Amino acid sequence: MPAINWFPGHMNKARREIKKAMGKVELVIEVLDARMPHSSENPLVEGLRGDTPCIKVLNKRDLADPAVTRLWMEHFKAREGTWAITNERGKPKVSQQILKLGRRLMPKDRNMSRPILAMILGVPNVGKSTLLNTFVGRGLADVGNKPAVTKRQQRVEVGREYILLDTPGFLWPRLDPPECGMRLAALASIPDHVVSYEEIGPFVAAETLRLYPQALVARFKLKELPTTPEELVETIGRKRGCMQKGGVVNLPQACEVLVKELRMGKLGPISLERPGELG
Ligand code: GDP
Repeated sequence: MPAINWFPGHMNKARREIKKAMGKVELVIEVLDARMPHSSENPLVEGLRGDTPCIKVLNKRDLADPAVTRLWMEHFKAREGTWAITNERGKPKVSQQILKLGRRLMPKDRNMSRPILAMILGVPNVGKSTLLNTFVGRGLADVGNKPAVTKRQQRVEVGREYILLDTPGFLWPRLDPPECGMRLAALASIPDHVVSYEEIGPFVAAETLRLYPQALVARFKLKELPTTPEELVETIGRKRGCMQKGGVVNLPQACEVLVKELRMGKLGPISLERPGELG
């Protein structure tokens, strides 16, 4: 599997900004993709946060496999100084719970009339802007379906209780091992111009065949399960009319169908990684 090499300049800058801001931050809210909590986790946070409490928000839970999400919740809760909560867009009650939990995590002797300075982190496209908008209860941050929409650091007041530092949707080198990079690309946290559908497709085909074969059978109305990823992509191409001259399947198009349907949740709730079997 080829390693993905993508580290644009603004992301390096973001890393420096985060390090600088972390000194004053009292709470870290890290938004993870519930379908790939490990690959979407920032490996720098543990090293940078010291004693600062961290809430991991397992977001897009509507798209993830609920049984696997439960395993991830246990995994994160067992970690020192870390709390975990699941979320999906359009749940203002959950966002209130996150803010309430954050208040509870402050030192007992802290003067609570002062707003809590919290930092929101997360890979591109994980749903940070959407969550931030739910926190403030109005349209504020740009919400987009393209990675890296948020570029500047924003300071957002939530009532008198919080000041939230929104960080750029920067990516860090959890591109190693290559499987992590492929999951990030498969779920649209790395732009398609960096890793093409044709590159992601075979990975998605192999992983869905391994983890959710019945979902493939149901979605693509397969009579029998293909035995290899290549055969799966080929079958999807034929079923969906992705053909070129001479009755040959257009593989890039077939890969695009599979990857897009996975991202949109058309295959049903799917998680690409489990604790204990991390690539
Ligand atoms: P950011 O790059 O981390 O700020 O991500 P955005 O907030 O811009 O969201 C990226 C895309 O994911 C948008 O199309 C959102 O509508 C969508 N999204 C955000 N949260 C959820 C969620 O919980 N479930 C689903 N299905 N989609 C979500």
